[in-house]
Amino acid sequence: MTTSPVQAGSASPTGRPRVVIVGTGFGGLFAAQALKKAPVDVTVIGKTSHHLFQPLLYQVATGILSEGEIAPATREILKRHENTRVVLGEVTDIDLTNRTVTSTVLGRTSVHPYDELIVAAGAGQSYFGNDQFAEFAPGMKSIDDALELRGRIFGAFELAELATDQSEIDRLMTFVVVGAGPTGVEMAGQIAELAHRTLKHDFRNIDPTTARIILLDAAPLVLPSFGERLGGKARRQLNEMGVEVQLGAMVTNLDENGIEVKDSDGTSRRINAATKIWAAGVQASPLGKQLAEQSGAAVDRAGRVSVLPDLTLPGHPEVHVVGDMINLDKLPGVAQVAIQGGRYSADAIKRRIAGKPAAAPFKYFDKGSMATISRFSAVADIGKFRFGGFIAWVLWLVVHLMYIVGFKSRVTTVFHWAISFLGRGRSQRVATQQQVYGRLALEHLGPEFEQSKTGGLADDAPAEDLTGRRSA
Ligand SMILES: Cc1cc2nc3c(=O)[nH]c(=O)nc-3n(C[C@H](O)[C@H](O)[C@H](O)COP(=O)(O)OP(=O)(O)OC[C@H]3O[C@@H](n4cnc5c(N)ncnc54)[C@H](O)[C@@H]3O)c2cc1C
Repeated sequence: MTTSPVQAGSASPTGRPRVVIVGTGFGGLFAAQALKKAPVDVTVIGKTSHHLFQPLLYQVATGILSEGEIAPATREILKRHENTRVVLGEVTDIDLTNRTVTSTVLGRTSVHPYDELIVAAGAGQSYFGNDQFAEFAPGMKSIDDALELRGRIFGAFELAELATDQSEIDRLMTFVVVGAGPTGVEMAGQIAELAHRTLKHDFRNIDPTTARIILLDAAPLVLPSFGERLGGKARRQLNEMGVEVQLGAMVTNLDENGIEVKDSDGTSRRINAATKIWAAGVQASPLGKQLAEQSGAAVDRAGRVSVLPDLTLPGHPEVHVVGDMINLDKLPGVAQVAIQGGRYSADAIKRRIAGKPAAAPFKYFDKGSMATISRFSAVADIGKFRFGGFIAWVLWLVVHLMYIVGFKSRVTTVFHWAISFLGRGRSQRVATQQQVYGRLALEHLGPEFEQSKTGGLADDAPAEDLTGRRSA
């Protein structure tokens, strides 16, 4: 492992205040964009080299969109920001006393001093203490997850085509989505459309339209955040599409072949299913706990940090935390909270540098929420209006298109949507063994494998100081 010998508090080469941003999701990216013309040196650190548009991950998983369309390179997005450099690395340590952030990638460690810090590391999947479920039921948080699921979903139909035993065919053609929030509903709806429309004529031994798609949740409602009326509408529509909605059903165990469920009346049962998808629960980045421990801020069960009304940490006005990592006024874990928080924090930094008084506390402007159920149908909750159907779906298309980053991606997305929603096709049906087995293989290989991929760097190899260098 190599370590950059950057001294805490060392001055920026330009003499300007150093702003470090952790995360290239909605909070991090929009904060960086808001600092474009500010007299600061910005370092954006992300553990992936792309900005991920998570709301459309399910479309990558079901073959509608390619990963590139929802995950443009951060470096490309920020290439015209002359005050900004982009660094690939996972932040492992934040030292609030010495004002440094430590990141590492493939055994190369760098230390980044800051004057102002914005932490926007988001949230990961939560299996509610059953992390072993992840092996059999991938979540939906990253491009890796979406591609693995794509491989598992399309692969299940391929294996069913080969199987001769009916119970095996049934197992392969049963898809269980756990979690009836927006992600679960969208995923279940798209698997149903895939089975019933896209793949209808593609097989000879199986009939994909007989695939069983089950959406289950321990809660008594579909889309609880949209209220009973819209949730009920979504449930009826899912039923019409052939999705079995099972509510009050708590997952108690999972294995390669199926899922065990306890119903609200206390009875237990098993569903044989090859493909399980976990769309229930989130856990904030572990960096939240680090920040809380050092600042005395509280952290809730989901790992979110209680921030002050200006999104900073107690006793640390220079540390801003935004997006899915924060616990403030019951704000939801949605993109707009992160975007607005990122912009607010960037503005607070600019004000401080300009010697202006601090802005009013952060106020979230709720622009509403939407979820698609199938092509031509969505539900929307915007201000006083809660409605569903075609208009909601068109609105959903327009809003999502607006927030996809980059002209190229928007054009190709529209093209692929036309193929899938007006026609029956799916342009992205490639599924490789690497996609399906890569995650598990890496887990089995263990951390030593990562060390072996450092290109031969030894523990005492010359240190590389990244902090004085500029790149976009
Ligand atoms: C499947 C899915 C569907 C969704 N659909 C919707 C929707 O329809 N509408 C909506 O408003 N919201 C939706 N959301 C929620 C929305 O995507 C999040 O609220 C939003 O992304 C939060 O932004 P963020 O910046 O806090 O975190 P993220 O966007 O998750 O970004 C976190 C960033 O931090 C990086 N990171 C994490 N840990 C580290 C580390 N240690 N070091 C370096 N980098 C790190 C990550 O790689 C990532 O770049 C959805 C989420 C998911 C998963």
